[in-house]
Amino acid sequence: MSFVNAHAQARFDALRDLNFKVPRVFEFPVDDQGQPLKISDFFGVNTFDIFKMKEKLPKDVFSQIIASLESSKPLDAKLAGLVAHAMKEWALAKGVTHYCHWFQPQTGITAEKHDAFLSFDDRGAPIEKFSGSELIQGESDASSFPSGGMRSTFEARGYTAWDPSSPVFIMEHENGKTLCIPSVFMSYHGESLDEKTGLLRSIEFLSQKTCDLLHVLGYAQVKRVIPTLGVEQEYFLVDRALYSLRPDLLMTGRSLVGQLPPKGQQLEDHYFGSIPARAQAFMCESEFELYKLGVPVKTRHNEVAPGQFELAPIFEEANRAVDHNQLIMEVLKRVGIRHGFQVLFHEKPFAGINGSGKHHNWSLMVASVGSRSVELVRGQNLLSPGKTSSDHLRFLTILLGVLLGVQKHAGLLRAGIASAGNDHRLGANEAPPAILSVFLGNFLDSFLNELEKGAGSDMSVETTVLKLGVAGLPWVMKDNTDRNRTSPFAFTGNRFEFRAVGSAASCAFPTTLLNTVIGDGFSELTEALKAKRKKSKELQESDILEVLRNTVKQTRSIRFEGNNYSGKWLEEAEQRHLPHLRKTPEALAQFLTPSTQKLLTESGVFEDVERVSRFHVHLERYLKDMWIELNTLKLMVDVQILPAVYAYHGSLSQAAMTAKSVGVPAPQLELLNRLSLWIHSLQEKRNHLDRVASQIEECTQEEQKARIFAEQGTAVMGEVRYFCDILESAVSDTFWPLPKYFELLFLI
Ligand code: ADP
Ligand code: MG
Repeated sequence: MSFVNAHAQARFDALRDLNFKVPRVFEFPVDDQGQPLKISDFFGVNTFDIFKMKEKLPKDVFSQIIASLESSKPLDAKLAGLVAHAMKEWALAKGVTHYCHWFQPQTGITAEKHDAFLSFDDRGAPIEKFSGSELIQGESDASSFPSGGMRSTFEARGYTAWDPSSPVFIMEHENGKTLCIPSVFMSYHGESLDEKTGLLRSIEFLSQKTCDLLHVLGYAQVKRVIPTLGVEQEYFLVDRALYSLRPDLLMTGRSLVGQLPPKGQQLEDHYFGSIPARAQAFMCESEFELYKLGVPVKTRHNEVAPGQFELAPIFEEANRAVDHNQLIMEVLKRVGIRHGFQVLFHEKPFAGINGSGKHHNWSLMVASVGSRSVELVRGQNLLSPGKTSSDHLRFLTILLGVLLGVQKHAGLLRAGIASAGNDHRLGANEAPPAILSVFLGNFLDSFLNELEKGAGSDMSVETTVLKLGVAGLPWVMKDNTDRNRTSPFAFTGNRFEFRAVGSAASCAFPTTLLNTVIGDGFSELTEALKAKRKKSKELQESDILEVLRNTVKQTRSIRFEGNNYSGKWLEEAEQRHLPHLRKTPEALAQFLTPSTQKLLTESGVFEDVERVSRFHVHLERYLKDMWIELNTLKLMVDVQILPAVYAYHGSLSQAAMTAKSVGVPAPQLELLNRLSLWIHSLQEKRNHLDRVASQIEECTQEEQKARIFAEQGTAVMGEVRYFCDILESAVSDTFWPLPKYFELLFLI
């Protein structure tokens, strides 16, 4: 075969090489006798967690640290010095040479600046040093991180501060090891520049509000409640050699052109299918790295689309789960390269087949209780229905508090997951729509309906429980929380699953907002219950039921049990006045509403300037992503697609001329004519992109720019793609420069 362009040649070379790629083998660790180790033998070896602290520190120092952790108070300097010393000794023994504050600026990923432990003693001799203050605080130039206009360029200083609630860990690189200290990141004036500060504040707020609610219900001894999070991470794997030939995947994480092959996912033969050998080898090595980092990865499977997979860890405290999700993404990417894979976290890497989400399984766990509490114990899941009638009442109260929070701030929750990537997924046929609603499952839904009907009647706890079927509730509920894959926010037996979150997003922001809105729901319920108590001095069960009944009424519109993909739901949601924020710019405006302002400032999660800066950071990011997409598409059309099509057109014309010159009919003419028309249309659409780009450039207002992108920009990019994809199916394969969908999706 002769190739007209080097790209087509490279594409076929990469495809040929795929035949020789075998799964990469890595050495699974063994003990002294050569027996393979168990996961539990090496789980967390690279973390300096609470157990290691206990082992390495004097008893009294350790108890003081625990006390300060539990009260969320900062460590004093002397204590920090002792911890830093123990950490350093532990790390040096493992061959670590550097340390870094590991933080999460609002870029969706993590950031780190490494410093060697190397220092000099008084006599000038080289030594390893790591002080308490170096552990607690770092300083870095913040000017290149997003601040949403909060920081002027001359105030470039930013600070990182150790977050002791997430364990320190060692990141192993090919040629060295670094001690990473999970940290928060703030500006010179103390405003939060990162994803973690808001999250930690929201955890405190939610804990306080949940305790208040539980106290009114009579659980006076609960002192602290912690949100738990289990994040299912979906991703695609593509061969790196093919990936490197796709500027769109490289630059934007998604394919901007590409014809859907005859076989996509319609045979449903990928979901839960046997895992391809190269992918499995990659997963095992990634999981091995993650276990060492103390990330409890549990589940792996093929997802719906070809080339798509999922990894899910065992749930943890939300703060730790957020860090661990970042580590999961980082490790998958890094190990992927060793296996010749590119891991794609984009929400919609390939049009026409399933996109990827990051399902947030969220619940609340009782953290510590006083000695007199008999009813709630440490570790108790507050969304677990329980067995006794008081369990049921507590469960219903928490459940309705969640509904109330989500109902009040549905628009804000939608805004928290808005991104250029997720716009392709929300509302598409396989993903939840951009309208937030809650699915409870048949049983709970009917139960709440019953409860509501009984308003004003003497429905006592007794009869409620009878209706529930006392002993049956826990398992009846499990059986009845039938899955509704179409729901953006579904109750799944003992937790909620926020399914609308995008696969590339940091978990921190959606979780921060979730904690905050639910805290607000709890707060409102608490006030209602307290008002009742005032009237009747002591809160009766019937009073609680009455408040709950009102809440059922109040939150009716957010509940939806049907098919979220159907057109009817769109109409119904409109009648219910649920916010339907289709695209990112529309959604982000929610950050600026009075209700968001009130919620975020009163809860103390974001100060006003921080809240507004979030709006700007997210808007800027959207614009940048869109610009990158638009310019990448233009580039691909100009330097790859059109040249390939011209070359093919030219070779057909040559052949037609030759045929004509020897006096035989030229069979190429018909295709030549069609090609000419398509080329003309592509050129026209391509030029239209330029006009839209100029229109956006001329705009002075960022929001207006974003709106033009969301409306015209994406539409014209779609039209350009349409003609590229037609041409992909018409041009000879030996001319086509870009790896095709079936090559990217089916050959791993
Ligand atoms: P699915 O069947 O929905 O795909 P998976 O098993 O893939 O479920 O993932 C479920 C996730 O929910 C896991 O990460 C699991 O640890 C998490 N999970 C279970 N219980 C809780 C809980 N109480 N709080 C938070 N997450 C939880
Ligand atoms: Mg799953």
